[in-house]
Amino acid sequence: MLVVMKAHATEEQVRDVCQKIEKMGYRAHAMPGAQRTAIGITGNKGEVEAGTLEEMPGVQEVIAVSKPYKLVSREIREDNTVIRFPGTAATLGGPGLAIVAGPCAIESREQAFAVAERVRRAGAQFFRGGAYKPRTSPYSFQGLGEEALRIMAEIREQFGMKIITEAIDHESLDLVERYADVIQIGARNMQNFSLLKRAGRARKPVLLKRGMSATLEEFLMAAEYILSEGNYNVALCERGVRTFADHTRNTLDLSVVPAVQRLSHLPILVDPSHGTGKRNKVTPLSRAAVAVGADGLLVEVHHQPDQALSDGPQSLFPDQFDELMTQVRQIASVVGRGVPEIGMRETLAVSR
Ligand code: PEP
Ligand code: MN
Repeated sequence: MLVVMKAHATEEQVRDVCQKIEKMGYRAHAMPGAQRTAIGITGNKGEVEAGTLEEMPGVQEVIAVSKPYKLVSREIREDNTVIRFPGTAATLGGPGLAIVAGPCAIESREQAFAVAERVRRAGAQFFRGGAYKPRTSPYSFQGLGEEALRIMAEIREQFGMKIITEAIDHESLDLVERYADVIQIGARNMQNFSLLKRAGRARKPVLLKRGMSATLEEFLMAAEYILSEGNYNVALCERGVRTFADHTRNTLDLSVVPAVQRLSHLPILVDPSHGTGKRNKVTPLSRAAVAVGADGLLVEVHHQPDQALSDGPQSLFPDQFDELMTQVRQIASVVGRGVPEIGMRETLAVSR
C-alpha cells in the first residue's frame, strides 16, 4: 500500500502518518518527491485497513501498489533517485553521468595508484577495485582483503575519487562499509537475500549488479530487499547476461536500461567490461550505453592488462580509457547529459 500525501502536507503530518503506520505493526517508508511525499507501507500480510489513514490530515489518498516490488517502483516515487556524495559533484543518478573506473582487483599499492592516477585524469569520479574477488576457481587470486581497502582509502584522499568495492559476505560487508563510499553487490550475490538485507541496513549507498540470468523483475526484487530494510540509496548495474552467444563473455542487455527507467526510480549504470569480456568491445558499447540513457558506466582499466591477476582481457589500457572518455562526452552532450568534474582541490592533488 501507498499513502500519497497532499502537495502541501507538512512534515509533521507526514510524521504522524508514519507513526500511525508503525503503530498498526507495519513499516513506513517516507519517500519525498518534487511534488509530494509518498509513504510506502511494508510488512503487511494482507490488505491494510486504509480507512483510518485516509482520514488523517494531509493525506490525499491510499492506493494499492500493483507491482510485486514496491519501494523501487515509480508508483511510489515519480522522480529519479539521485545519490549524492557531500563535498563533490559526483552523483549516482541525475543529469551527470557517473564514471566508475579502475582495475578488476587491487593487486598492489603501485598498481592501484598507477591506474587511479590515469582514470582520475581522464575524468572518472569513482574508483573501483576488488578487495574480495568472487572467483570461479578457488585457486585464482582472491583479492588482498582489508589491505586493498586501505589502499583505496588512500586513493580517495589523494585523488578525491569516491571508492566503490564489492562485499561478498557479511564479514567483508562490515569492512567495505567502513572503508568505501559505495558497497558493490556482485552478480553472483544478486539473490543472496541475507547479504541484501545486511546491505539494506548499511549506512552507505549500494551498487547492485544484475545476476547473470536474472529477469528484470528478479533484479528489481533484489533491490527491493535493500530498500525494504531502510537503505534507499541503491543504484543498479547491467553487466550482461548468459546467452548462447559466444563471441562475447556475456550479452550486454542494453534494452534493460529503458525498461528499468520505466518501472523504477533507481539509477541504472552499465558495465561493458564484464558485459562483453573483450577489450575491443568496451568502447563501442560504452557509447551505446550512454546513448540509450544509462546513468553511468563501470569500466575496468589496468596499466598492464597482460599482467592483470583477473579480467586482463577486458581491461582497457589507460590510453584507451582516455579515448573512451572523449567519445562518451560527445555522446553525452547529444542526449543532454554531461560528465561532472570533481572539485578543484582534487584536481590540484592530481597535477602535483
Ligand atoms: C566486478 O565488478 O569485478 C565483478 C566481479 O562483476 P560481476 O559481479 O558483474 O561479475
Ligand atoms: Mn572484473
